[in-house]
Amino acid sequence: MTRIDLHCHSTASDGTLTPAELVRAGAAAGLDVMAITDHDTTGGWAEAAAARPEGMRLVRGAELSCRWHGPRWPIALHLLAYLFDPAEPRLAADLGRLRDDREHRAEQIVDLLRADGVPITWAEVHDYAAGGSVGRPHIAQALIRAGLVRTTDEAFHSGWLGGRYFVPKSDLDVFEGVRAVLGAGGVPVFAHPRATRRGPVVPDRLIEELADAGLFGLEVDHEDHSPAERAEIRALAGRLGLVVTGSSDFHGTHKTVELGAFGTQPAAYEKIVAAASGVPVLG
Ligand code: AMP
Ligand code: FE
Ligand code: FE
Ligand code: ZN
Repeated sequence: MTRIDLHCHSTASDGTLTPAELVRAGAAAGLDVMAITDHDTTGGWAEAAAARPEGMRLVRGAELSCRWHGPRWPIALHLLAYLFDPAEPRLAADLGRLRDDREHRAEQIVDLLRADGVPITWAEVHDYAAGGSVGRPHIAQALIRAGLVRTTDEAFHSGWLGGRYFVPKSDLDVFEGVRAVLGAGGVPVFAHPRATRRGPVVPDRLIEELADAGLFGLEVDHEDHSPAERAEIRALAGRLGLVVTGSSDFHGTHKTVELGAFGTQPAAYEKIVAAASGVPVLG
């Protein structure tokens, strides 16, 4: 059986394994194909490529922080982008802006926490991000260090980063995101589109519009989707002719999910590879 995991994070964003450790862990977990998809960055690509074990293929990608300006309020969503040219100016500029925005927003969250007497600092959070894309899991790490919560998951509860101290990012308009990925020769796949446990999700009609705009696939098998949500999204993908993927969304010890916990069928993977023209699969 071919094991394909198309959504994994490293220390280039909010994972806890370095890119080199990540690809070695992927091979050790028996993956035949793995993708590195850090939030808003290609910063882990070179190290992952250099450390890629023989026999395991590496798909270089990213997960773009996007936003749909819906009729009521904006809804945040994540777009996986595979095999795009990282030097394409427009997409590179978008990614740079998204990373800057993450820094400003994390500083704002730290300021809010400090104003309430929470003993963490921006310098500490910045250190945890170690030069990668800053995310709320790095702030969660500071809250754990300060003894205020025990786990990352607890730090996302409504009393903390998931509510009281929630600050939105500005993010990239999702249609612009799809166009930017396509313009860089990449393949856009909507990450965990029905993850209701994370917050509000977009309506099917938006997914239809995105399909018309060039969206290539939907991530169906993901731990944040219930069986019913998976069935709905799988059926929608079938109706719209979109490719179906499944992935772990591995984040190291920031989450409990294991590499390869969910997988993508070889036929879907082959379609993604065939549609891409930015960079090749390695291996
Ligand atoms: P951010 O990108 O800074 O908005 O932070 C969101 C990130 O935190 C996502 O990449 C998730 O993987 C992670 N995340 C969201 N909710 C949780 C949770 N309950 N427990 C652990 N990680 C989470
Ligand atoms: Fe993450
Ligand atoms: Fe995501
Ligand atoms: Zn992810």
